Amino acid sequence: MGIIIKTKEEIEIIREGGKRLATVLQKVAKHVAPGVSTWELDEYAEKLIREGGDEPAFKGYKPSGQSAPYPASLCVSVNNEVVHGIPKKDKILKEGDIVSLDLGLKHKGLFTDHAITVPVGKISKKDEDLIKNTHDGMMAGIFEARGGGRVGDIGFAIQAVGDKYKYGIVRVLSGHGVGKQIHEDPFVPNFGKKGTKEKLIPGMIIAIEPMFNLGTHDVVVGSDGYTFRTADGKKSVHFEHTVLITDGEPEILTLP
Ligand code: MG
Repeated sequence: MGIIIKTKEEIEIIREGGKRLATVLQKVAKHVAPGVSTWELDEYAEKLIREGGDEPAFKGYKPSGQSAPYPASLCVSVNNEVVHGIPKKDKILKEGDIVSLDLGLKHKGLFTDHAITVPVGKISKKDEDLIKNTHDGMMAGIFEARGGGRVGDIGFAIQAVGDKYKYGIVRVLSGHGVGKQIHEDPFVPNFGKKGTKEKLIPGMIIAIEPMFNLGTHDVVVGSDGYTFRTADGKKSVHFEHTVLITDGEPEILTLP
C-alpha cells in the first residue's frame, strides 16, 4: 500500500475527527464504574459517535486473516486483556479493575484511532503506576514523531520507558499509519533502534500505541479470534493517540 502523505484538506478533516473521537472517549470513560457492563460502554460510544453524524470505524471491520468482522464499535479490554476485547452484556466491571477503551471514528470518510486505560474505582498502586508509565511511554514516543526522524526513533523511546520499569512490552502488536484506512503503512513498533526503519515525513499521520504488561511480553489470542490476553495472566495497559508528523512539534490529533 505504501505510506500515504495527507493533503492539507485531509489533515483538516482528520483533525476535526480526532477532536470528536477524543470527546466521545472522555464521555465513555466517565461512564466507567463498578457494576457497568462492557456492552453498555460500547452502546454509549456508538450512540455518541452517530449523534455527531460520524461512523464507528471498528464495527464490521475485518482485519486481514480474520474470519469474522469485528462485531462492536468499542474494544474493551479488562485487566489481563491487552487489546480487542469484545464487549459483552455479562461482562461486568468491578472495583479494582483496569479497563482499556479503544475506539476508532470515521469522519467525512477519514479515520482516527485513540485508546486510554482507566481505573474502575480504587485500584492498586502497582496498577496506577502501570497506567501512568504506559502513558509516559506513549508520550516519549510521540515526542520523537517529527519530520526527518525515523519510525525506529519512536519505538526506541517507548522501549526505554518500558525497560526502565521492567515491564513486558507487547511485540506482536504495533502502531500504524491511519487516515484513509484505519490501518495503513507503516507499522510503528513499540520497540526498536534509533535511526532505523521508515523516514518520518511531514503530512504522515500515525497511531502510536504502546501496550505494557506487568509480566511477560507474550500474548495469546482467545477463542473469539480477537481478544489478546497476556500469556501469564498479569495485567496490561494500552494508550493510543493519532499523531500528525510536521516539520517541528508533533501534533496530537486525538485531543478534545
Ligand atoms: Mg490502533
